[in-house]
Parts: sequence; structure tokens; C-alpha cells
Amino acid sequence: KPQIVWLRRDLRLRDQAAFCAAADAGPVIPVYVLDDETPGNRKLGGAARWWLHHSLKSLDDDLGRHHSKLVLRRGRAADILAELVAQTGAGAVHGIHHYEPWWREAERDLAERTELHLYHGNYLMPPGKVTTGAGDPYKIFTPFKNAMFDRIHGFDVLEEPSLTNPDDWPESDRLDDLNLLPSTPDWSGGIGEAWTPGTNAAIARFEDFLDKVSDYEDDRNLPSEDGSSRMSPHLHHGEVSPRMLWDAMSRHTSEGARTYRSELIWRDFAQNLIYQFPDYPEKSYRDGYDDHLWRNPNRGHLIESELEAWQNGRTGYPIVDAGMRQLWQTGWMHNRVRMIAASFLIKHLLIDWRHGERWFWDTLVDADYGSNGCNWQWVSGTGVDSNMFVRIMAPLSQSEKFDAADYIRKFVPELADMSDEQIHDPPDECRPEAYPAKLIGHKEARERALEAYHAMKD
Ligand code: FAD
Repeated sequence: KPQIVWLRRDLRLRDQAAFCAAADAGPVIPVYVLDDETPGNRKLGGAARWWLHHSLKSLDDDLGRHHSKLVLRRGRAADILAELVAQTGAGAVHGIHHYEPWWREAERDLAERTELHLYHGNYLMPPGKVTTGAGDPYKIFTPFKNAMFDRIHGFDVLEEPSLTNPDDWPESDRLDDLNLLPSTPDWSGGIGEAWTPGTNAAIARFEDFLDKVSDYEDDRNLPSEDGSSRMSPHLHHGEVSPRMLWDAMSRHTSEGARTYRSELIWRDFAQNLIYQFPDYPEKSYRDGYDDHLWRNPNRGHLIESELEAWQNGRTGYPIVDAGMRQLWQTGWMHNRVRMIAASFLIKHLLIDWRHGERWFWDTLVDADYGSNGCNWQWVSGTGVDSNMFVRIMAPLSQSEKFDAADYIRKFVPELADMSDEQIHDPPDECRPEAYPAKLIGHKEARERALEAYHAMKD
């Protein structure tokens, strides 16, 4: 009997347990359903849709080498898969576990209607598997990381299976009919220049990165350098698995390689949090903040124009503006700058972290329910881990410390002619007219945030 492979954020053939199991059981029908219903208010953002289009195209090309192809559909995934099983006489549906709450529900729903086999594979370890001595899931990163390092002794990465085809293929939508690409205006030019989605491009990029992984420890913090792996959108869409990356690094023993592995563990940690707290990216987990801390339009605060200035990269803080414009132009932002830009929104502007989370959700090519939500909640200090609110990052000294001058020149062209000394904090007398004044001074913002925080605590 034919076997259906249900694809979601696992768009690869290597180290893909669902493909391997399906191929062992019979002819394979790979299916991707564009589902804007099941995720409710979490349907894919614009930048992720752009990525998905190209990633599906790339997987279809890879399947072509096996004389196979992708079957594309639109609608509620569980309904469509149940229909496809009936129509094709498939023996079972095979998929990789996903931990977003809407996918867990869809998996339960489908399992009631058909034979569904789910496999682990998009994370280093299945969420919930690595627990404290008392058997509880971890809420704090460092002990989780140590436990993961203790547990992981390499992986048996699965090879690409050979596929056989069904006698009849079910009908498929055309990729263009999914309307994943922006039309007017087409804002995706810069994203297309910056990225090539797909497994082959990801592996090539990772091989280049491995040549410099020993410098990762320092270079990953420098926005002007290309010092991190830029694997996040490839990992998010499952074009590579973290187990493949871990395995590819097995001969690398530098401190940089260890740090890189702990970043991959952050990604697992975020899934562990949403596995325990499915609404984590939606809800502050500490009391008081939502009612008392954020400036709130319902209490007469005008935050809209400041939120827009932040989104458009016009806050008057060059490092924040460079980051926000990098995000808009390329669909990605350097990690250190993500922290600075998020801290700025939350603490300098006292705007509810969820406004930022939502903007990133729409604009990041790696927008991820777990990683995005957990990082926003971590910066805001409202989560179950550390209380970070009082750690207010100083954008100007961060910009100097991490040598962001060239980065700012690239993304804030109004400041391109400024000297290395002045570019981090252009003095009023030489601030180009086209570049906005600061929304609020750093000292004033810091005092306001701390006052609001202490008032909330009282
Ligand atoms: P590298 O430094 O090369 O790291 C390797 C991989 O480790 C990354 O690809 C990523 O999968 C993982 N990783 C690294 N740092 C983190 C982290 N802090 N949390 C979780 N995983 C991590 N990452 C996303 O993948 N999706 C998001 O939506 C996302 N939103 C974020 C929002 C904020 C406010 C912040 C501060 C961070 C966010 N991150 C997110 C984490 C991090 O910024 C990106 O994973 C990283 O910048 C991606 O670049 P890279 O692949 O070159 O990372």
C-alpha cells in the first residue's frame, strides 16, 4: 500500500525518519498542505511564506532525483490527509513530531481518523525527554544545557532513503497557486539576495561556516562580521536537522564548536518550554507586568508612533535602526542586535514584548513559535526562567563594544559618512537631517523603566 509522508517544517530527505519509515513500508506520496486554518492566529508570516515557497521548490527538485514529486494542497491539514488516505488507499501517514500547540492538536485529530506514525527528528532530543534528577522538565537553560551535553554522545544520522512511486499520483495544486510570494508591492528583493533556501544551499553554507567555527566564540557577537552560521531559517524549515549539524562538527573540538553546540541546545530548550507551556509565546508568566509596566493605549499612552518608528528603524539609535532595517531588508537579524532591539522596545519604550514578538513573527525568515516567543519573554524578564527586566542594555555602548560601525553604515546609509567614533551616537550638530533624533534619551529611558519596575513591584 502507498504511504503518505506529511511534511511540515521538515523539508528534507536526509535524517528524515518519516521518509525512511514510509519508504520501508511501500511506495511514497510526499504531501505538503498549506494550512492557514489550524494555526489560528499563528498562520505563517510574510517572510516565512517567501522562504517556504522556495524551500518547497527545492525539495520538489530533490525528490525529482528519485523520480518522485511533492503533492501540494491547501486547507485543514488533518481533513486533507484523512481524505487523501481514503482516496489513495494509503496504509498510513508518517510525519515528524511538531510541538506547536496547534500541530499537537492536529496530530491527535488525525490519529483518531487514520493510522498515523510520528517520529522524532527536528530537535536534538525529544522535548520532555531530558529531565532533572526529580524527573521534572527543565525551566532554566544552564542545567538543561549541562544535562544535554551529558546525554548526547553523537547521532546516527539517517541517510536519504530510496523511494518507490505509487501507481497513481493524487492531484496536486501548483506551487504558484499557493500564493506564498508577495505580489504588489514585492518587498522580497533583499531577502532573495541574502538567501538561497533548500538543503543543498544550507549544507554548502554550513561547510563554509565550519572552516571558521574556531572563531565563532568571538565573531558571533560582531554584527559587522559574518561570524555565525545563518542556519536558523534552514533549521526552522527543517531543510537540515540539528543532528546533522552536530554530527558534521564531530571532528571540531575548539571552544567555538562547543559554544555552537550550546546554541543548538538553546533551540531545543525553547521547544521544551513550549512543550511545558504551550501558550508561552502569548502570555507573560510573571504577574504584574501586563497590568502595570507596559505603557498601554488603554491607559492613554500613545505608543503607536513609537512602535512604528521601531519597526521602521527610525528610533534615532543607530544600532537598533540598523538591526530593524536588516530585518526588513533581509528577513533576518544578527542575534546580538535582536537582543538590543528587543530590549530597546521593552525597556526604553516600555512597550509590551508581544508587539515585538508579533513583528518578528511576520518579518523573520526564521520566525519560530518556540524560539521567538522564548527569546522575547527572556529579554522582557516575564518568563519562567531568569528575571531579566532590570538588565537594560545600553544600545550606544553595546554598539561600540561590538564594533558595529560597518554594520550601521550598511543598513543606515544616512550615517555612512560618519566616523567610527561618531557613528554609534551621532552628536546633534552633525546628525544628518535625514536621520531622526532619538525617541528618548538613554538615561531618561533607563530611569523611567527602573522606576516603573520598582513601582510595579511595590
Ligand atoms: P548561530 O549563532 O549560528 O546559532 C546556530 C543555531 O542555534 C541557530 O541557527 C539557531 O537555530 C540556534 N540558536 C542560536 N541562538 C538561539 C537562541 N537564542 N534561541 C534559540 N535558538 C538559538 N531564532 C530563531 O530561530 N527563530 C526566531 O524566531 C528567533 N527569534 C528571536 C527573537 C529574539 C528577541 C532574540 C533575542 C533571538 C531570537 N532568535 C530566534 C535566536 C537567535 O537570534 C537566532 O537563532 C540566531 O540569530 C540565528 O542566526 P544563526 O543561525 O547565524 O545563529
